[in-house]
Amino acid sequence: MPDSIADLLPSLVDFRRDLHAHPELGFKEHRTAARIAAALREAGLEVHEGIGGTGIVGVLKAGSSGRAIALRADMDALPIQEQTGLPHASCHAGVFHGCGHDGHSTMLLGAARHLARTRRFDGTIHFIFQPAEEGLGGARAMVQDGLFQRFPSQRVFALHNWPDLPAGTVATRPGPIMAAADKFEITLRGKGGHAAMPHVTPDAVLAASDLVGQLNSIISRRIPPTSSAVLSVTRIQGGHAHNVLPAAVTLGGTVRSFDPPVQDTIEAALRQVAAGVALASGTEADITYDRYYPATINDAEAAEEALRIAAGVCTSVRAPEPAFTSEDFAFMLQACKGAYLWLGQGGASAPLHHPHYDFNDAIIPTGVSLFCALAESRS
Ligand SMILES: [Zn+2]
Ligand SMILES: [Zn+2]
Repeated sequence: MPDSIADLLPSLVDFRRDLHAHPELGFKEHRTAARIAAALREAGLEVHEGIGGTGIVGVLKAGSSGRAIALRADMDALPIQEQTGLPHASCHAGVFHGCGHDGHSTMLLGAARHLARTRRFDGTIHFIFQPAEEGLGGARAMVQDGLFQRFPSQRVFALHNWPDLPAGTVATRPGPIMAAADKFEITLRGKGGHAAMPHVTPDAVLAASDLVGQLNSIISRRIPPTSSAVLSVTRIQGGHAHNVLPAAVTLGGTVRSFDPPVQDTIEAALRQVAAGVALASGTEADITYDRYYPATINDAEAAEEALRIAAGVCTSVRAPEPAFTSEDFAFMLQACKGAYLWLGQGGASAPLHHPHYDFNDAIIPTGVSLFCALAESRS
């Protein structure tokens, strides 16, 4: 029985670059899912397709134990125009694997292929390939489609490549690791009218600029200094001519936090501030506030296990603090104990979601070995 994964690497690099060249947006990962399902079947796994849309679960059993572990990768790409100029660059205009999900799927497939031939575990391994991580909640769709009822697991683990860490280093932490992500939109409505007669219409532009300042004081004035949160106004739209006061101005942005009480305070303050600015300016405020991803909270025991297991594979580091980016693996961690791990990809490439980003193929062996070690220790 082969113990090394070295012989798999050339085909895994080819697979990753093929996925990279053919990226698909969330819930449209039809070619990607078909390629993964075919490769899992070829390796001898039982394959379940169409879970939560284009999601796949591959099942591998060995021995007689009733223990089961789930390992998860994401499959979707981003609506970005790639600018790497690489030979395996995206064939699809405006769609790009700018977050490395092509690498995550490849590493999980590599683990499935290796474990299928070694069978050096006792129990069941569920290989989860999920759709639509980038803002559309593919993990929630799979959980709502009965993922953990159909494939009960005592643990679930996921990896994300991390440009801020040296290549091959793994980091995680007990408790919060990624932030809750909320988005808001506020429209201030006046009447609109001639810019030379501002006394006859509420000025939605001036009110919106006041509101940007007020919103930016919420974190510093309403949240305890010992807590962490971010509020960013990212968009203002309104007006079209130099001599017209617009009837409405819309602004939008995002809020990131880790603790639900902090999240509650921010939403309440945002509503209060918007209503106050509207009252003071004579405009009316329409507010929508959407909590789309919860915070990703690692189970403390599972995170410690993962750190211990990773130390047998590569450099394993306890992350000192969580990141303010978000991750829909949060929904899986609400349904099953587990942990989310960062796999260093080195700083040579651009940051995640940048048009020059590319997944570092040199970390494929570490990712495959880590998935295998997690499965061998827990199944
Ligand atoms: Zn991303
Ligand atoms: Zn990602």
